[in-house]
Amino acid sequence: MADDCIFCKIVAGELPSHNIQEDEHTIAFMDINPWTRGHALVIPRNHSKNLYEVPEEDLAHTASASKRLALTMRDRLGCDGVNLLNCCEPAAWQTVFHMHMHVIPRYDDDPLKLPVPPQPADQGELEQVARELRGG
Ligand code: AMP
Ligand code: ZN
Repeated sequence: MADDCIFCKIVAGELPSHNIQEDEHTIAFMDINPWTRGHALVIPRNHSKNLYEVPEEDLAHTASASKRLALTMRDRLGCDGVNLLNCCEPAAWQTVFHMHMHVIPRYDDDPLKLPVPPQPADQGELEQVARELRGG
């Protein structure tokens, strides 16, 4: 448990939360600022800061629990789809520094919009960045 981590406090039962599902490795609970009806977070019980630092096993458990929750949302809330979202570092909108996956049920008539409209890239730029990512 990390000092002053609100999600560690939720795991420890020291802060209130609306829990949905739990297993040995993860907890899922309602997001207090939901983007849609049912928006929830899945977190590993073990503290890690974010995607860069989470151990592979905790990440795998978080992914599996997120899938389980997506199916529960489909079956019990009747959502039409689900977005999984992870934010890693403030540049990517991370505000709570305990690894978590947003599981966001989507409805055909919900108000969410894609943050970036699709825009075809320049082929040369795509190849350049692919080369950088391949490492040479
Ligand atoms: P992120 O911006 O990806 O770090 O997401 C953090 C999320 O945690 C936000 O969607 C917040 O609404 C949510 N959040 C913050 N504090 C709590 C809390 N005490 N209980 C439930 N959700 C929380
Ligand atoms: Zn924590």
